[in-house]
Formats: sequence, structure tokens, C-alpha cells
Amino acid sequence: MNIRTRLALQFLVLVSLIVGVAFVVVYTRAAEFRTEEFHDRMRSRGESTANLLLDVAEVDDRLLRKIEQNSPVRLINEGLSIYDDHNALLIHLGEDHALLRITPALLDSIRQQGELERITTERELLAFHVRSPKSGFVAVISGQDLYGRRKLQDQARVMLVTFLVGLVLIFFISRTFARRALSPLQRLILDLRSITASDLSRRTDPGTGTDEIAQVAASFNDLLGRLEAAFGTQKNFIANASHEMRTPLTAISGQLEVLLLKERSGEDYRNALKSVVEDMHALNRLNDRLLMMAQTDAASITFAPVRLDELIWAARTEVLRTKTFNQVIVTIEGFEEASDLTVNGNEVLLRCMIVNLMENACKYSGDHQALVTLRGKGERVTLDVEDRGIGIDPVDHHRIFEQFFRARNSAGTKGHGIGLSLVKRIVELHGGVIHVESKRGEGARFVITFRKFVDAE
Ligand code: ADP
Repeated sequence: MNIRTRLALQFLVLVSLIVGVAFVVVYTRAAEFRTEEFHDRMRSRGESTANLLLDVAEVDDRLLRKIEQNSPVRLINEGLSIYDDHNALLIHLGEDHALLRITPALLDSIRQQGELERITTERELLAFHVRSPKSGFVAVISGQDLYGRRKLQDQARVMLVTFLVGLVLIFFISRTFARRALSPLQRLILDLRSITASDLSRRTDPGTGTDEIAQVAASFNDLLGRLEAAFGTQKNFIANASHEMRTPLTAISGQLEVLLLKERSGEDYRNALKSVVEDMHALNRLNDRLLMMAQTDAASITFAPVRLDELIWAARTEVLRTKTFNQVIVTIEGFEEASDLTVNGNEVLLRCMIVNLMENACKYSGDHQALVTLRGKGERVTLDVEDRGIGIDPVDHHRIFEQFFRARNSAGTKGHGIGLSLVKRIVELHGGVIHVESKRGEGARFVITFRKFVDAE
């Protein structure tokens, strides 16, 4: 069931409840009023007839019958009996009461209670006792309130028809209102349906209002903006990655083709193959980094307490193994216990981060030396990776963490511009911060700060 019909039905139920209760109250009150009014008529009828009979000496049984026969205030199918205080029937006019058998005991109980009432669907009866200075009497009067009942029935019929017709009208009117209120949503749905992954530049029309639907449309536009940017970044990433891979691949195939042009000496073959292997290694490393980059985007990275000092030693071994002329000098200071050097992190990613920083320090310095300092003081652990190399121009400081960016100082040095963007991503994943301090020609210092691991138990 769509929202429009559901809203209309909910509104219908609500209105029918309110109107239904109101109609029932009105009808009940009208029914009570009819009963009270007929009751009053019966009482005054009984009283006036009894007074005429008892108080006016000239009026006897015969005269009274004559008067009453033509009385305009007689009830329909009226029956009227008057009893004196000794239970003697003074007069009975009109129909039989039918609703009650009058016995002396009943008359005594009426005298005690003052009044007795009987109502059926056909006939109504009122018996009451009147005490007067001369003598009391009991009047029993019954009749039919055809007019009052017909009026009441008519009123009920009108109310029922009004109620039913009203419900039908309310359903259709509320559906129309709901449709009008939800039409911007319908437009939004059509707009969104027309947006595809290949055309994320399109936007929905948020209109001029400030209502919830306009807010939803604006939020969708924000989301589309973010998606477009993310898709764009991904596209760029793929283009840049394939470009970076093409360079060593072209170099490899070029060298092999040149080698195949003519017969070569064993020395030539050895040199060419050495260079190809180097390019293959570079390609492999690039591939590893690209893979690592993709992994940092995955949601399923596991974290555990990791000791950074142990990772530094492991990273150092790796860096020295790839290039034997590299030097990594490690200082670990300012800590009291091993837990001061422990962070909550992913071992593989943190190790990759340290290797990248060490390799850069060695790569961009003439002495191929990286100075690594780890400090564990207070709530934080700080890692410094410093070198005395070519340094970075301050204008490039904010860009060196971008994917595939290589600063102007990198000319003549092999690289792909991925390492630092990966480092930054890993630092952020671990809730840490990274900054660089460097000037051209004065070396570079990368400072990373993490929050120390605290065991909750
Ligand atoms: P790559 O080293 O492969 O070019 P990175 O992402 O690791 O890529 O570094 C990005 C750029 O930052 C480098 O091209 C270089 O210009 C600069 N850079 C990084 N580390 C250093 C450093 N220790 N000293 C000088 N420049 C650096």
C-alpha cells in the first residue's frame, strides 16, 4: 500500500472515530430528551385529569369522559387510571395499559417510591403518586410517542447517511491532499531514477521550499556530490596506477627487444637481465603499495595491541635488505615500560608505514641515512623519521601526501608518488596525526603521533 493511501486511510479512521463518537453522543442526548419530554407530558396529563376529577365538584365520571374524549392534549392510544388513597379506581379512560397489572401492592409501592416508569418499543407508561391537602391519588398513564420516536429515527437515519457519505468524501479528499503533499517526493523519485553511475553530475531539484522533502533532496545532492568526487578519485587512481605500471613495463619490454635485435655477449645478457630484474622488483613494490592502498579502504582491518619498537626493528631489517647501502639509526627513549610504546593498530599496515618513511629518508639523502626516534611519554607515542638530505620545498609540504604526487626535488630519483599518501592514510586509520618539517637542502623530518594503547581491564 502506498503512503498516499495509507495516510488517507489513517485520516479516515481518525475522523470516523471522532465524528462517530460525536454522533453517538448527540443521538443519545436526543433520545434522553425525547423520553424526558414524553414523561413530562404524561405527568401533566395525569395531574390535570386527576385535579379536574378531584378538585372540581361539578365534574363527575361522565362529564370527565366527555371532556377527555375531545381533549387535544390526549396521548396517542392513551390509557389513564386514577386511584384514590384507598386503592379504589376512581376512573379509567382509554386503552388498557398492557405494560403493568395494577394490584394494591403495586399501588402501595408506587406511593412509597413516588414514581414508576416502563418503556417498551411500542408503549410507555408512567405511574406516580400525588399528595394533596385534601386527599392523595395515584395516576397511571400510558401511551405511544409516535411523533417523538419517528423524529428520533429520522435524526438517526440522517446522521448515519451523513456519516457514510462524509467518510467516502473524506477518503477521496484526503487522498487528493496526500497526493499533492507528496508530489515533490514523486518528482524526487523520478529524478533519482534517472541518475546512473555513469552520469553522477546530475542533481535533483530541491525546489524553493525548506520542508523535509526539500531537505531530503538537498541531502541527496550532497550525497551525489560526494559519490561523484569518490568516483572521480577512483577513476584518477586507476588511470595514474596504470600509467605508473606502464613505465617499468615499457622499460622491460624495450630492454628485451633491444637484446633480441642481434647476438650478444654473455656479459651483455647478464647486464640486461639484471636491469630487467630491478625493474621487475620496482614493479612488484608498486603493486604491493597499490594493493596496500586498496586494503586501507577495506572495512575489515583488524586492530590489536602492537609494539612500535618491535615494528621499527623489523622495518629496519627490510630496508637494509633491499638496499645494503642504506643506514637506519634507531633511538628509543623516554619510556618506562613496554606498554608506553604500544598502540592499538594493524601490524602489517604500521610496518608498511615505517618502511616507507625509512626508505624515503634514505632515498632522498646523499648519505642514505634515516634517523628514527621513538618516544613514549604520557598518553602518546611519537615517531620521528629524519634525514639530512635534499629536503622539501615548503610550497610542496601540503601536496606530498596526495596520491601520485612527486615534488620537484624528486627529479632523478625513482618513485611513483604513492608512499606518503599510503603513510597518511595508515596514520589516519589509526587515529594519529602526521606532519612534516623541512626546508629545501636541509633535510626532512616526519613526525607521527599516536594515542597509546590502554588496556580497558
Ligand atoms: P615517491 O618517493 O615514490 O616519489 P612518496 O609518496 O613517498 O613518493 O613521496 C612523495 C614526494 O615527497 C616525493 O616524490 C618527494 O618529492 C617528497 N619526499 C618524500 N619524502 C621525502 C624526504 N625524506 N626528503 C625529501 N623529499 C621527500
